[in-house]
Amino acid sequence: MDETASVTFVSVLVALLIGLTIGKAWERYKLRGGRWIDRRKARKSPHYILGLNFLVSNQIDLAIEELSNAAGLDADALEVHMILGNLYREKGQVARAIQVHQALLQRTGLSTIEHAYVLLCLGLDFKRGGFVDRALETFNEVLRLDFDNRYALINLGKLYEDQHQWSEAYTMRKRVMALAEPESQASHRSILAFLETEIGQEARSDADTNEAISRFEAAIELDKSTVPAYLNLGDVRLASGDAEGAISAWEHIISVEPNRAYLAFDRLDDSYPKVGAPKKFQELCRRLIASNPLDWRARQALARHLTERGAVRDALELLLEALVHNPHALSIHQSILQTLTKLNFDSVLVQRYVELTRGAIFYLDPHICTNCRYRSTELLWQCPQCHEWKTFLEERMAPAKEPVDPHRDRE
Ligand SMILES: [Zn+2]
Repeated sequence: MDETASVTFVSVLVALLIGLTIGKAWERYKLRGGRWIDRRKARKSPHYILGLNFLVSNQIDLAIEELSNAAGLDADALEVHMILGNLYREKGQVARAIQVHQALLQRTGLSTIEHAYVLLCLGLDFKRGGFVDRALETFNEVLRLDFDNRYALINLGKLYEDQHQWSEAYTMRKRVMALAEPESQASHRSILAFLETEIGQEARSDADTNEAISRFEAAIELDKSTVPAYLNLGDVRLASGDAEGAISAWEHIISVEPNRAYLAFDRLDDSYPKVGAPKKFQELCRRLIASNPLDWRARQALARHLTERGAVRDALELLLEALVHNPHALSIHQSILQTLTKLNFDSVLVQRYVELTRGAIFYLDPHICTNCRYRSTELLWQCPQCHEWKTFLEERMAPAKEPVDPHRDRE
């Protein structure tokens, strides 16, 4: 609910800025029917000022009312109509927004920049209404009129991403990046690296191994912390018989993003014996635990590794330690119960487990998008809700300070 409101608010501000940009670029006076008309009329009216105030406080219905009044004062006031159309779109009245913006396009004497901005609004209407082809066409038309239009480039890029047209999305992102400030280059580069990884995955599913490898390497070159590029690079190398190369790709994750190293655990555990290093997985997990005592995933992975080799009690100790740091992760509880089963529910061990879990809150989906709060049970690189890249964090909740008294709990 609140993310919808904030998205609306941002779009409205964008609409407002577009309107003001045009207002600036626009001549104040225009010859119409042989007379000079003051084009500031609508913008100087109290309705316009009130409308903008309602916009800023996100009261869209009232803003529409006031801006409609302002538009009534001067049918020519292009930006007022444009904002109105945008507000209809934000309210979900897409057909009406399209109608308003299409009517504006019929006007004679629009400058190139005005034409481009009205088309941009129309493209946003089509996008919002789910008319993907028409949105693509319209944004491309904006770029023909205004080659460096950032809004059109960003929206086209997002549409291409939605359509899984990764190469096109990549091209758009590069153009946005070329226009961006130096301080935002790194975040654009990081997204380019994800897009490069997607292109590599396409090559992989087309069985084009060399292309896939060079794409994954290019992604890493763009941004050393692109974890899925290392995972994929290792997978392709392993599939083409290069276990050493695969391991080296996966091990890189440990140095660039130690918190994500667990994504390579299964792969490394399977592959170390293939290169004659069966002890290496244990060493890796112990090193990770030593460098980050909170690392419950390394404990869990090592516990599984030990269980498979018969060291069940050692495994249980690790799992109980993991539980102390992360009492909410259901998978640890499941591993503990499986391990306890192997130990025939030794009552002393069961009692320790019960003591440790007192006051714990179970939590199934520990990943959360920092942009829109979308929750996911697994780590995602692109958010399915807000479509941003690399926004997921593992949510951690502190264990309850004191066990809750069950008799006081009920009210
Ligand atoms: Zn999100």
